[in-house]
Amino acid sequence: MLKRPHHFERFQSAYLFSEIEARKAEFLKKRPEAQLVSLGIGDTKLPLPSVVVEALVRAAAELGTEEGYSGYGRTEGMNLLREALVRRFYPHLSPSEIFISDGAKSDLGRLQMIFGSKCVVAVQDPAYPVYLEGSLFQEVEGLHLLPCLPENHFLPSLPEGIDLLYLCNPNNPTGKALTFEELEAVVRCAEKNRFLIIYDGAYAAYIQDPTRYPSSIYAIEGAERVAIEVNSFSKLAGFTGVRLGWSVIPKALTFSCGGSIWKDFSRFNQLLFNGASNIAQKGGLAVLSDEGYGATQRSIALTMENAALLKAAFERAGYTVYGGKHAPYLWIHTPDIPSWELFQIFLEEKELIVTPGSGYGLSGEHFIRVSAFGKPSTIRSILERIAP
Ligand code: PLP
Repeated sequence: MLKRPHHFERFQSAYLFSEIEARKAEFLKKRPEAQLVSLGIGDTKLPLPSVVVEALVRAAAELGTEEGYSGYGRTEGMNLLREALVRRFYPHLSPSEIFISDGAKSDLGRLQMIFGSKCVVAVQDPAYPVYLEGSLFQEVEGLHLLPCLPENHFLPSLPEGIDLLYLCNPNNPTGKALTFEELEAVVRCAEKNRFLIIYDGAYAAYIQDPTRYPSSIYAIEGAERVAIEVNSFSKLAGFTGVRLGWSVIPKALTFSCGGSIWKDFSRFNQLLFNGASNIAQKGGLAVLSDEGYGATQRSIALTMENAALLKAAFERAGYTVYGGKHAPYLWIHTPDIPSWELFQIFLEEKELIVTPGSGYGLSGEHFIRVSAFGKPSTIRSILERIAP
C-alpha cells in the first residue's frame, strides 16, 4: 500500500488562516450582530478596470468562434505578453528570459522542485510561508531562518555557506522596502558567496518612490548573474482570482557545474506545466497597455491611501507601526502582547480581524499584520474603531 512521504510529518496543518476562521466563527456564535471587518488575508478587493474586463470578455468570446479559437499555447507564454513585460519592467532583458505562469506561488513551487534537496537555503523570518514550507517539502540539506526585526531594519545579515536566498521585496509581511543601497549589498554578497537569490517582487507595484527603492532586482547591475525574479499580476492588477504571473530566468544564470538554469527551467516547465490560461494572458496584455496600466495604478493608489489612513489611525492609538509606505501591509509591533492575544483583543473589542504575526515565523511573535486591501469606504468606516 502507498506510504505517506515522511516529510509530511514535518508540516503543521495549515494553521494560521484556519485558526483565524475558527476564532471568527466562535465569536460570531456569541455575537451574531457583530459588524466584523477583515484586515486579515491579503486579497485584492477592488473591481478590475473596464479596459481589462473588456479584454477578458473579448478573449473568452473569441474562443467561441472558428477563427478565434485557440487551444494549448506555448508553455512559456504568449510572445506578445513577454515582450510587453520586457518593455514595461525589464528593458535590458530579452523576452525569451520571461516565463509566463499561472501565478507566483506555482512558480515558486516549480523552482523548488528544480533545485531539489541538495541545497542550503536561507529564508527571511517572518516570511511568506511558501519559502519555508516548500523548502521543508523538498527536504533541503540546510535551512537558515534569518530574523528580520526592527533592530536590524528588517534586513538580516546573510550567513555564509548558503546556496539559495529567498528575498521578498517589498516584504510580506513586514512591509519593508529595500533601498538601492540595501539591495545592491545583497547582490554583491550573492556574487561573492556564490548563492542564487529567488527574488519575489509580487508587491513591486506598491513602491511609491522608485528613485530610492528599486522595483526589480535587475535595477542592480550584475543581478542577472545571481537572481531569479518571481512576479505576479495578482497584486499588480487584482488578478488573484484570474491567475497570472511570470518569472524572469536570465540566461546568464548557471549551476555550480556551469549548466544553464534557464535551460533546465524551460525543460522542466514543459514537463509539468501547460502554460497559463489564454484568456488570462490577454487580460495581462490589457493590464500592460497604457490605458490598463494607468487604471491599475489608480487602484494601487487607492490601496496605498487606505494604508496611510490605517497607519495614521494605529499610530494615533499608540501603536508602533512599520511598513505601509511602499507595501499594502502594516506590521504592528506590540512588545508586551503576544500576537494571538492582540488578535483576540481586536476581534472582541473592535470587531476587526488582523493576522497574528507569529503565523509568519518565530520572529513575527508580538507583531500583527494589517492588510490595506479593501474598499476605501470600508476602511474609512473603521478608522474610528481603531483610534476612537
Ligand atoms: N509572493 C508573495 C510574497 C505573496 O504575498 C503572494 C500572495 O499573497 C504570492 C507570492 C502569490 O502570488 P500569486 O497569487 O501570483 O500566486
